[in-house]
Amino acid sequence: MRSAPFESLIGEVRACSACADKLPLGPRPVFQASPTATLLIASQAPGTKVHASGIPFSDDSGARLREWTGLSSEQFYDSAKVAIVPMGLCYPGRGSGGGDAPPRPECAPLWRDRLLAGMPATRLTLLVGSYAQIHALGPGAVSQRVRDFRSYLPLYFPLPHPSWRSRIWAENNPWFGSEVLPALRNAVAQALRSD
Ligand code: SF4
Repeated sequence: MRSAPFESLIGEVRACSACADKLPLGPRPVFQASPTATLLIASQAPGTKVHASGIPFSDDSGARLREWTGLSSEQFYDSAKVAIVPMGLCYPGRGSGGGDAPPRPECAPLWRDRLLAGMPATRLTLLVGSYAQIHALGPGAVSQRVRDFRSYLPLYFPLPHPSWRSRIWAENNPWFGSEVLPALRNAVAQALRSD
């Protein structure tokens, strides 16, 4: 169950329009959060499919992330246990390189610390992609961090962004499937244990 102050914060976030003039599809913060969540997925920003649905990771990236973590859709969307808070909560538009633009820089300073402070039960944070990793850990290369995942446990587990590009990246880095994913599934299961 959520506390009244946390409910109030969630309402504030959902009503945010702080950078509306920079958002091509307008504000629509997409996230899930609860004070009882023990697993936090710190991701990048919604894409167009997620903006349309209003459901975090309701796209191919989400299917890949669920496969990586070993979580069913039911487990993944159980907000009492799993929080999903991207670095930018609204779809940021297209970037100059053809992919999506970076998360809006206004967003994390406005909301992130307050949301995370309201989730004191968090045991493990999945740092999905470079923006979440840099925010939590400072500058560094994603591939090297993923390879060194053990050094960030038990608090953090760095991962690549599960976009279509990650399929090619994983083929070129077979240690990801053989070493990282089994450890990830184990760490996620530990974070979601019921004791
Ligand atoms: S991206 Fe963040 S700061 Fe900008 S409107 Fe959405 S919630 Fe507000």
